[in-house]
Amino acid sequence: MIPTVRDGFLICPYDGARIMRVLPKTTATNLVVWCRKCKREYVVNIDRGERL
Ligand SMILES: [Zn+2]
Repeated sequence: MIPTVRDGFLICPYDGARIMRVLPKTTATNLVVWCRKCKREYVVNIDRGERL
């Protein structure tokens, strides 16, 4: 499972915790993010505020 973008935040698919702020113009490739709540690590690709 991979995080989704909801209401301007990257959301952990397991516990719904907010991982990171995502702006409408945020773009990232192979960005490593980490959930503080469940300690899981994800690699995400974001293009203009939408996860790819
Ligand atoms: Zn989590």
